[in-house]
Amino acid sequence: MAKTIIDAHNVSKTFNPKTIPVHAVQNVHVHIEEGEFVALVGPSGSGKSTLLNMMGGLDEPTAGTVIIDGVEITTLSENKLIDFRLHNIGFVFQSFNLIPVLTAKENVGFVLQLQNIHKDKREKRVLELLNEVGLEDKINSKPSELSGGQQQRVAVARALASKPKIILADEPTANLDSKSAANLLDIMAKLNKEEKITFLFSTHDQRVIKKARRIITLVDGKIDSDVQQIPS
Ligand code: ADP
Ligand code: MG
Repeated sequence: MAKTIIDAHNVSKTFNPKTIPVHAVQNVHVHIEEGEFVALVGPSGSGKSTLLNMMGGLDEPTAGTVIIDGVEITTLSENKLIDFRLHNIGFVFQSFNLIPVLTAKENVGFVLQLQNIHKDKREKRVLELLNEVGLEDKINSKPSELSGGQQQRVAVARALASKPKIILADEPTANLDSKSAANLLDIMAKLNKEEKITFLFSTHDQRVIKKARRIITLVDGKIDSDVQQIPS
């Protein structure tokens, strides 16, 4: 049997609890097994980003627990959480979030530098990663010299740098044209299949939703449905 890699138990998030409370996520349970390829869908404002951020330890739940690969991240100290994130979870965002002054190679290498990986080993790994996302000819380009699709592929390479078991992606194709979106999704599906990386990605994009094997729908901060499908 596959093992549970993400276990969000009764998770809630209320913003501005003391003024005008916003119940962004309410009593949500999500169990995801290793190797799943899951889309998180729902209208704008339904809590997708908030839920992803809590699962990745970027935001603290108001209530409930998040267990990632057996570690209850909601009880970790700030330093331990940063370290856990760095080694276990890759993030991809809608707006790419690359460092503008750094080249593709440096944006990816930066993560390995944080992990104190030796320069020679770092160089080799960065080239492998950029090769994996088809950007071996763009290693010295800065984000401004790359298309949206290419920037997002750098972001995926960066997310992979720490060899995470999980990648959380918040609307990764929202700023991409159809061709780049399809290309990005192929890369994600390949990583899922060949490297057994678990993917949880929020999206509005019907073409992306079709490729998921499981679709979790949020409405008003609650799970409205959770269904398996055969990807097309
Ligand atoms: P989605 O990603 O599905 O569009 P979000 O998780 O971004 O939804 O937002 C869920 C709800 O929480 C929305 O009502 C949003 O306005 C609110 N919200 C999100 N982040 C914050 C914040 N930092 N402070 C206050 N309210 C927030
Ligand atoms: Mg969002």
